Amino acid sequence: MQLTKRQEQILDIVKNAGPITGEQIAERLNLTRATLRPDMAILTMSGMLEARPRVGYFYSGKKPGRMLADKLHRVLVGEIKSVPVVVPEKCTVYDAVVTLFIEDVGTLFAVRDGGYLEGVISRKDLLKITLGGQDIQKLPVGVIMTRMPNVVYIEPEDSVWEAARRMISHEVDALPVVRPSGKGNGGTQNFEVVGRISKTNITRLFVELGEGNI
Ligand code: ADP
Repeated sequence: MQLTKRQEQILDIVKNAGPITGEQIAERLNLTRATLRPDMAILTMSGMLEARPRVGYFYSGKKPGRMLADKLHRVLVGEIKSVPVVVPEKCTVYDAVVTLFIEDVGTLFAVRDGGYLEGVISRKDLLKITLGGQDIQKLPVGVIMTRMPNVVYIEPEDSVWEAARRMISHEVDALPVVRPSGKGNGGTQNFEVVGRISKTNITRLFVELGEGNI
C-alpha cells in the first residue's frame, strides 16, 4: 500500500507521540481535523493505526505484510466456497466426463447415499482411464477415484489460507468442503459435502485483495 507524504507524517507523529488525539495531530501539522479525516480513516482501516475512544490514536506496529497475513487468516472457506459438483459412486466414467463439461469444473466429488463423501475424481483420473482402452460407458468412477480416507478436505470454518496450504502441500486442485455428520457403518465418520474450494476460488480472492476491496 502506497502512503501519501501526509499519511507518512501522521504515522511518524503517532509512532513518536502516541497515544495522541486527532486534534493534537492536526495541530502539529497546522491543518484542521476535517482535512485529516480521510487520511485517518485510511490509516485505521488498513490497520496501521488503531483508535481508542477517549485515548486517541496509537501505532499498531503491524507491518503491511503482517496485515495481509491477518486478512488471509480471517477470510473463511465458508465465505468463498462454490457449490459442489457431486456424482454417485456408481456413475460411469463417461457420465463423469459429461458432467465435468456441463458443470465446467475440474474436479468431481463422489458421494454415497445421504450425500456423504466417498471420493474425488480429477481431470487426469478421467483422462488416464480413457487411455487404457476400457469401456468407459460401463466402468463406474468408484474404480478410478481417490477414496476416503485419503481425500483431503476442509471445513467451512477453516481459513482460506489453510485451504490453500492443503492444496499446495497435497498437490491437488480442489478440496471438498465438508461437515462431519455422524458415524456410518463400521463406525467411520460421515462427511456431508457442502461445498467446493479450488485454486480458482483462491485466485479470485487474490484478485479482490489486490483491488483493495476486502
Ligand atoms: P489433475 O488430475 O487435473 O492434475 P489434481 O492435481 O487435483 O488434478 O489431482 C491429482 C490426483 O489427486 C488425482 O488422482 C485425484 O484423484 C487426487 N485428488 C484430487 N483432489 C484431491 C483431494 N482433495 N484429496 C485427495 N486426493 C485428491
